[in-house]
Amino acid sequence: MTISFDSDFTMTIGGQGVAGASSFDVLNPATEQPIAKAPDCSREQLDQAVASARKAFPGWAATPFAERQKLVTAMAGVLFANAEPLKRLLTAEQGKTLEAAGADVMGGGFWLQQTATLTLPETVNEDSETRRSITRHVPLGVVGAIAPWNFPVLLACFKLGPALLAGNTVVLKPSPFTPLTTLKVGELLRGVLPPGVLNVVSGGDALGPWMTSHPGIDKISFTGSTQTGRKVMASASDSLKRVTLELGGNDAAIVLPDVDVNKVAQELFWAAFGNSGQICIATKRMYVHKDVYEPLKTALVDYARSVKVGDGAQQGTQLGPIQNRPQYQRVVSLIQDAKDKGYSFLMGGLPDEQKGYFVPITILDNPPEDSRIVQEEQFGPVLPLLKFDDVDEAVARANASDYGLGASVWSGDAEKALAIGQRLQAGTVWINETQHLSPLAPFAGHKQSGAGAENGLEGLLEYTATQTITVKKPAAVA
Ligand code: NAD
Repeated sequence: MTISFDSDFTMTIGGQGVAGASSFDVLNPATEQPIAKAPDCSREQLDQAVASARKAFPGWAATPFAERQKLVTAMAGVLFANAEPLKRLLTAEQGKTLEAAGADVMGGGFWLQQTATLTLPETVNEDSETRRSITRHVPLGVVGAIAPWNFPVLLACFKLGPALLAGNTVVLKPSPFTPLTTLKVGELLRGVLPPGVLNVVSGGDALGPWMTSHPGIDKISFTGSTQTGRKVMASASDSLKRVTLELGGNDAAIVLPDVDVNKVAQELFWAAFGNSGQICIATKRMYVHKDVYEPLKTALVDYARSVKVGDGAQQGTQLGPIQNRPQYQRVVSLIQDAKDKGYSFLMGGLPDEQKGYFVPITILDNPPEDSRIVQEEQFGPVLPLLKFDDVDEAVARANASDYGLGASVWSGDAEKALAIGQRLQAGTVWINETQHLSPLAPFAGHKQSGAGAENGLEGLLEYTATQTITVKKPAAVA
């Protein structure tokens, strides 16, 4: 497949390509130039997408589980086979490097493939002379899947795999900042899934709220900011839609004095700065023991100076721009605040006037704990390095947050680190690594980082309703 930016990007509704009622520009964040137009879904078109999903639901829910497993696996094959053109498109609209865009697409395929190996349990509660009682898990109906712009394909696949496998039909909405690759994926999958099983719509700010309040949608699976997550939950409550929320984070890393500084410095850099910091589970606060603070600071800054920031499409680029202007402005305002308050910068600072949403790699030297850069999710290439004296203090500071998505502990002694990790209030805790997720392991945000879980059996069950069936046995009939 070749993808031309002049070609039409269409929505997928009832298995057909559908142009928007109008359209909007999608920009390349490295150049701020429009690269293509995306369809702007009208309310009537959303109604059509939901109606087609509802129409397809009984047939899809009745499709044998093994057949659904086969089709979800086939979806993975489509992503693998088209990874090359899809990654180029993704880099153009998202900004990340070609390598990272390839990992986003291939990762999406891997997620679908692995999710398709899961099965839904059936539990026998009672099998006596008088009664047989079993509990099973049935699909919910139509799932509205809402994705963010940082990992457009991978995070959509977090939802598509389990939702479809469990027997639901889906209306998927990408972020208006990165709709193109997702629209193409929808187009490619038209030949794989029965019409109406997967619908893909794109649009502006009104479309998400139309989905969360739509009476024909039974569940919302949302990945995005905590602020928007609150609105999603409020809106979904009208019709008591089920919700899964994967929200923001302010992940702490705790670095103990027994680490091999030169060994961990690079890994810690990528923990914080991968995808230009635009990862929900990026390390956003780094607590370093005072005994290794100075050497780690030097090693981190030395390595950071060697990393090339630029247009993700250019060879040699290791980090791309911030994905969109509002996010760029948020990150700049945090740097400005740190400057205004007189905090010490080890490197970086405010960006130069230039085309593209580029922010230099910025590291702050021990800013106050109550500063905005420590307390807020920066979601950009800006990291506060923070010094601690004793572990209890580091744990207390790490836990003093409304967020609870991920956390990590770094030590030469994994057992010691594990004991500390178990005290951290986060849905995922890593020891001597970060950001490793698996399609087979639940991923859940504690506190205001989410509600429910994605991935693994727990994630699959979120797309089902629990049903207990009891059968009275003839022997019990008087
Ligand atoms: P966002 O909340 O602005 O938008 C996410 C999606 O919601 C987009 O598709 C957007 O169009 C849609 N949306 C916006 N307003 C809506 C509304 N009122 N109702 C329904 N939908 C609405 O988030 P973003 O800026 O795209 O993504 C960055 C945020 O996402 C960060 O906070 C990051 O930590 C978080 N995130 C979380 C995870 C996770 O798994 N926990 C993963 C990636 C990103």
